Amino acid sequence: MATVVVAALAERAKGENRVALVPEAVSRLVSQGLEVLVESAAGAGAFHDDDEYVAAGAKVGTVAKVLAKADVLLAVRRPEPGVLAKLRTGQVLIGLLDAQVDADGLAPLADRGVRALSLDLLPRTLPRAQTMDVLSSQASIAGYRSVIVAAEAFGRYFPMMITAAGTARPATVLVLGAGVAGLQAIGTARRLGAQVSGYDVRPAAREEVTSLGAAFLTTSVTAGAGDGGYARTLTAEETAAQQTELAEQIRRFDVVITTAQVPGGVPPVLVTAETLASMAPGSVVVDLAAGPNGGNVVGSVPEQRIVTPGGVTVIGAGNLPAQMAAGASAAYARNISALLTSIIVDGEIKLDPSDEVVAAILVGPAADAETEGTVGDA
Ligand code: NAD
Repeated sequence: MATVVVAALAERAKGENRVALVPEAVSRLVSQGLEVLVESAAGAGAFHDDDEYVAAGAKVGTVAKVLAKADVLLAVRRPEPGVLAKLRTGQVLIGLLDAQVDADGLAPLADRGVRALSLDLLPRTLPRAQTMDVLSSQASIAGYRSVIVAAEAFGRYFPMMITAAGTARPATVLVLGAGVAGLQAIGTARRLGAQVSGYDVRPAAREEVTSLGAAFLTTSVTAGAGDGGYARTLTAEETAAQQTELAEQIRRFDVVITTAQVPGGVPPVLVTAETLASMAPGSVVVDLAAGPNGGNVVGSVPEQRIVTPGGVTVIGAGNLPAQMAAGASAAYARNISALLTSIIVDGEIKLDPSDEVVAAILVGPAADAETEGTVGDA
């Protein structure tokens, strides 16, 4: 039986410094009997050079070699169309492929018998899926980083400082949305010494926020968790009420971090233009939800820092995990390794459609038609 070849592609998206496999993960996969191939310079953005991968037991090669030899291709983001077009029958592609946002773009893969596993579809509340949960590992990094970004942009201390030059009061920080990223932001802002409050529409978030030592803000709008633990979309009336009530609170804070993303959908507006205008000069707002579909803050632009006429700095977060590529890649590679361990059994790739994880993340018609039995080496 031929050895399964697992390969990591270099990321080609602008500013994407992460890599799907780090050398530590390579060693583990090699020790499990897999052959590992890495595209040359794939780890450069995360400070891992080709020699490190070779020392860990991988082979390094061009993209053409990787595409020709790999049984399983690992990526962080969806590879560009030119790379997707070269995948062939029997190969398995794994990554944050955005199946929720653009399933059509992946359909040709299924038609050709390429099995795409889109990690954004992972059933995260399933206990067995937690070690594979790249959404949580990357959201946690984004939450941490959002506080660092905010602190860098804020012209005062986060902690209380008592010095010979006087006493500085601690910064007040409000985190809107207390999911994985929000809770990590709350914890990080607390560690920096700020006075922190958190807010979410899910009542269950209260205990998580307060257990981190932060205050919990409430509005009259609550929404129990919907599918997969995600908050449901609010009605127009609820959104309007929420915006009005939050406006009263937000102006009291020096720093506001918003994290309410809607998977594959339009993020709710939590900070309106009027609310921004009411904030004190020098305040900082970081919008983790800023993206092509809008954001939680009116006027935020991904990857951009805007200062309003009223002196409020509005930062559209963009790809924060890529700014911490070494840590983000290490976590991603561990998640991916856990998934590989579950789908490569006794030296063979087994995409069992009755497996809850496989059934959830396998994209396209192949999910029903072509996954029974095993996938051998190409
Ligand atoms: P997310 O990125 O989808 O959203 C971030 C937070 O924003 C969520 O807490 C959500 O409730 C909140 N939010 C959404 N709309 C809002 C609004 N209009 N106003 C205020 N807040 C709003 O969330 P996530 O971090 O991916 O987590 C989603 C859920 O999944 C959470 O309940 C989380 O605890 C759960 N989760 C569970 C596991 C697990 O069981 N292992 C793992 C990961 C996440």
